[in-house]
Formats: sequence, C-alpha cells, structure tokens
Amino acid sequence: MKNNDSLYRQLFAELPRHRTFFDYEMKSFSTFKVGGKADILFLPESVSEIKAAITICKNNSIPFQVLGKGSNVLISDRGIRGLTIYLGSNFTKISHEGKRIRAQAGASLAAITSLAAKNNLTGLEFSVGIPGSVGGAVLMNASAYDGEIKDVVISSSYLTTQEKIVTLNGAEHQFGYRSSVYQNISSIILEADFILEEGNRLEIYEKIQDFQIKRRASQPIDKFSAGSAFKRPPDNYAGKLISDAGLKGYREMNAGVSAKHAGFIINYGGASASDINRVFAHVKSVVEDKFGVSLQPEVKWIGDWTEEEVQWK
Ligand SMILES: Cc1cc2nc3c(=O)[nH]c(=O)nc-3n(C[C@H](O)[C@H](O)[C@H](O)COP(=O)(O)OP(=O)(O)OC[C@H]3O[C@@H](n4cnc5c(N)ncnc54)[C@H](O)[C@@H]3O)c2cc1C
Repeated sequence: MKNNDSLYRQLFAELPRHRTFFDYEMKSFSTFKVGGKADILFLPESVSEIKAAITICKNNSIPFQVLGKGSNVLISDRGIRGLTIYLGSNFTKISHEGKRIRAQAGASLAAITSLAAKNNLTGLEFSVGIPGSVGGAVLMNASAYDGEIKDVVISSSYLTTQEKIVTLNGAEHQFGYRSSVYQNISSIILEADFILEEGNRLEIYEKIQDFQIKRRASQPIDKFSAGSAFKRPPDNYAGKLISDAGLKGYREMNAGVSAKHAGFIINYGGASASDINRVFAHVKSVVEDKFGVSLQPEVKWIGDWTEEEVQWK
C-alpha cells in the first residue's frame, strides 16, 4: 500500500481529515483484536459523506469494504486494500417515536436495547450482549435466546453501488438463520426501523439481566472472539460437535477453542489472524473426519487473504 499512500491522500483529501486515516492499524476495530492495516479508514457521520467516499472509489477503481462494529469478522494480517468504511463510531444516531425506533447502521444493539428499555418497550432484550451494530445485525439476522432481528425489524434502507437509496420492507429482507438478502447484494445498509411492543419496565430489565447472567456463565465474554465461530449445522450444535471431537480447550500458541464454550474460537492475546485461521481450519477438519459434518463459519473473512489460506472453508 505504501506505493499508493500519497495518491490516496490526494484522492480522499475532500473527506473530513479528522475522520480519515491512511495505512491504519485495524486490530482495535475488530473484537478478535487481530488484523493488519487498512489502506484508508474512514469514519463517516452522514449519508452524504458515505456517498462522497464511494464516488471517489468508483471513479478510481478502488475497492471498498464496510464494517459495523467488527464483531463478526477476521481481518487479514496483511490488512484491507482500498477503503474501509467503519460505521460503528460516528454513524450512530437513534430516534424514537411511540413503539418505533429508527437507528443508523452503526448504532450499537446495546444502545437501541437500552433506549427501548428506558421507554418501556419490549422485543430487543434478546440482543443484550451481542456486541454488533444495527447494520451488522440486520445483515446477519443476529439472534439469541428467544429472539432474532427478523422479529423486530420492519424496514431498512441501503445505498446501492450506483448510489441509489433503496428501502426494504418485512419479508423483502429474506431473513434466515444468520442470513438476510444483504449477504447477496453489494450494498451499504444505512438504517433500520424497529417496531416493538409496550411492556413492563421492570420485567424488561429483569429479562435483560437474566440473559446477561446466562451469557456470563456460559460464554468466554472476557476473551477476544467473534462469538460463535461456526453456524449451527442442521439438527446439531457446532459447540457440541467440537467438544465431542475432543477440541474443547484446544490451543495453538495464542489462539484456540474456548475451554468454557467449544463454539467460540478465541485469541488469548497476541495471536495473529493467521493463527486464528489455522485453528478454524483444524477444527473444521477434525469435526469432518470424526462426524462427517462440514461446519460452515459464521465469521466473515475480511481483507487480503490468499485463496490458499482460506481454501479449507
Ligand atoms: C462475545 C460475542 C458474542 C456474540 N454473540 C452473538 C449472538 O448471541 N448472536 C449473534 O447473532 N451474533 C453474536 N455475535 C456475533 C456478532 O456480534 C453479530 O454477528 C453482529 O450482528 C455483527 O455485527 P457487526 O456490526 O459487528 O458486524 P461486522 O463484524 O462489522 O460485519 C459483519 C459483516 O457485516 C457486514 N456489514 C456490517 N455492517 C454493514 C452495513 N452497514 N452495510 C453492509 N454490510 C455491513 C460486514 O461487511 C461483514 O461482512 C457475538 C460476537 C461476540 C464477539
């Protein structure tokens, strides 16, 4: 990237300087705490800023990548080429009217859940402890305990690569287990509307607390991870298969399978993205050999990975 550095600085000069970074270390933008540098990292705060950044990319054939809160990604040690648009810090406005909450894509699930609870609105409690953004949660149809994003999102809007804003309603999202139509279209989710139910504030807070206690007891939330490493295979659980394969607590240097919950692959501190990638590959291969089940990663591989590195997927 060094070769392109001064060119990129010229091309992206019109973006706000204090929110545009070049050759920038991405570790702190991912919950795995791994990953190399992004050529250009931009923290937009408005749709017009996102459009301006995309226009520069399009006019100069520069690739771009969107990140919400970086809680479901494995960023390559070689970093991310082109522009990375990180929404999770400045594109986070939330508004509320009656039973409806509207949130920009970078707003955290924690923020909308807290706003809902304060206003006696029930329906988002399940999401407490999911460290993602609204955009990432809609794209993934994030779910836990008794709920999923599909149950509460009524519409969302996105920016197409042609810079048109399109709105999707209800079934148009094609929500499935950890999936939505957004995984098949190249787009930037801009905002989502949630419709909730009136509830009892005390009961809402009790439910939130109950889920927090359950998570703390069963998941390694004090370690760097991206949550569940693999999707749940049909009629089974990834964590159970990994555990039954004898891999609970398996460790290679500073990366490994959690000893608390075998569904989580973790960075014990100081692991590289390649170390974590190797653990994923090992787990998938052992489970496949022992049980004939082909686990599919839930995490998204972002940045400069070679085909060879990720061929195990
Ligand atoms: C400790 C821990 C616990 C977790 N528990 C759960 C759980 O219980 N249930 C669950 O479902 N998940 C869980 N996760 C995983 C993760 O938090 C969710 O998948 C979350 O929805 C990801 O949101 P994000 O903003 O971090 O997305 P990111 O990791 O930033 O991105 C994920 C993918 O979405 C894309 N993306 C993000 N935002 C946008 C946007 N605005 N427009 C277009 N594309 C976008 C990215 O390009 C990437 O491909 C957990 C993670 C951790 C670390």
